[in-house]
Amino acid sequence: DSILSGLSYHGEEQAENPIRPRLLNEFLGQEDIKSNLRIFIEAAKKREEPLDHVFLSGPPGLGKTTLAGIMANELGVDAKVTSAPALDKPKDLAGLLTTITERTVFFIDEIHRLKPVIEEMLYIAMEDFELDWIIGQGPSARTIRIPVPPFTMVGATTKPGRVSSPLYSRFGINVRMNFYNHQELQKILTRSASILNITITSDAAHLLAGSSRGTPRVANRLLRRMRDFAQIEGEGIITTDIVHSGLKRLQVDEKGLEKLDREILRTLITKYQGGPVGAETLAISVGESMDSLEDFYEPYMIQQGFLKRTPRGRVATPMAYKHLGLEWNSNENQ
Ligand code: ADP
Repeated sequence: DSILSGLSYHGEEQAENPIRPRLLNEFLGQEDIKSNLRIFIEAAKKREEPLDHVFLSGPPGLGKTTLAGIMANELGVDAKVTSAPALDKPKDLAGLLTTITERTVFFIDEIHRLKPVIEEMLYIAMEDFELDWIIGQGPSARTIRIPVPPFTMVGATTKPGRVSSPLYSRFGINVRMNFYNHQELQKILTRSASILNITITSDAAHLLAGSSRGTPRVANRLLRRMRDFAQIEGEGIITTDIVHSGLKRLQVDEKGLEKLDREILRTLITKYQGGPVGAETLAISVGESMDSLEDFYEPYMIQQGFLKRTPRGRVATPMAYKHLGLEWNSNENQ
C-alpha cells in the first residue's frame, strides 16, 4: 500500500473515475498518437509479446495516466501503478516487479524523479527482465539475479529533459503529448457531461472548451464547477450565461488564464521590467513552487504566446502586456 501512497489521485478525480476513458476509442483527440499506438498494441498482441516500453511526456492533465490504463485494457493485461517518489528503496521496486503477471503494464509516474540506485535496477529489469539483488553484507555479499515476468514499462514525465539518457534510451516507443485543440476539448466536455448526466448546450461547451487551457483535466474540473453554478443559480442547465458568469467568478479569463497566470505575467512586467528573470526568482515572487510554475503555468502561457523561455530567463511578450492592459515600450524592453 505504501508504494501507492505517492500517487496524487484525490477528491473528484479518483482512479475509478467514471469519466476516465478505458479504451482507445473513448480517448478523444491526439489522433496521431492513437493511430500509432493502436498498431503497436495490435502487433504485440499478435506476437503474444509484451508491448515495447513506452515513454510518455507532456504537461500534467493531458492523459498520460489514462493512456497507460488504456494500453493495459487494450492488451488485456494487468496494470500496476506507482510513481518515482514512492520508490524509495530497491526493495520497493523489487517488491512490485516480483509480483507482476506476464506482460503487465507497469506505470511509473514522474519518472524524472527516480533515484539513481532504483534507476540502475530498472535498466536491467527493462532490458533483461531480471533484477540484480544483493544478499548478505560486507565481504560475503553476493549478487543474485531474479527473473521477472516480461512486462511493459510505461514511464511518464512532465520534464522529459530531466530524464537521464541511459534510461530514456531503453524505451522503444516515445509519445510526446501536446495540448488539445478547441474541437477536441469540446468533444471531451460533451462526453464527460453525458456520463455525469449534466446538460450543457453546445454553445456553452464551445465557450468552456476555449477556457480549458488545452487540458482535459482542466476541462472536466471546469465542467463540474459550472454544474454547481447551474444547479444553485440557474435551471440546472449549463448555458453560455452560466459559463460567462461562472468563469468570471473562478477568475478564469477568455484565454483560459487563471488568476495566478496573470499574477506571474504582472510580476514579470512590473517587478522585473518584463524580464528576463530566472524561474526560481519568479516562482518565489508569486509564492508558487518551481514545479507548478514550470509544469503547469508556463507551458500553456508559452504555447499561447504570453511568455518566452530564454537562456537568461523568462520574458513577457508584447501580447502579455496587451492582455493585462499595460503599455509595452519597445525601447525599455530591449
Ligand atoms: P496525466 O497523467 O497526464 O496528468 P490523466 O491521465 O490523469 O493526466 O488525465 C486527467 C483526466 O483527464 C482524466 O481523469 C481523464 O478523465 C481526462 N482525460 C485525459 N485525456 C483524455 C482524453 N483524451 N479524452 C477524454 N478524457 C481525457
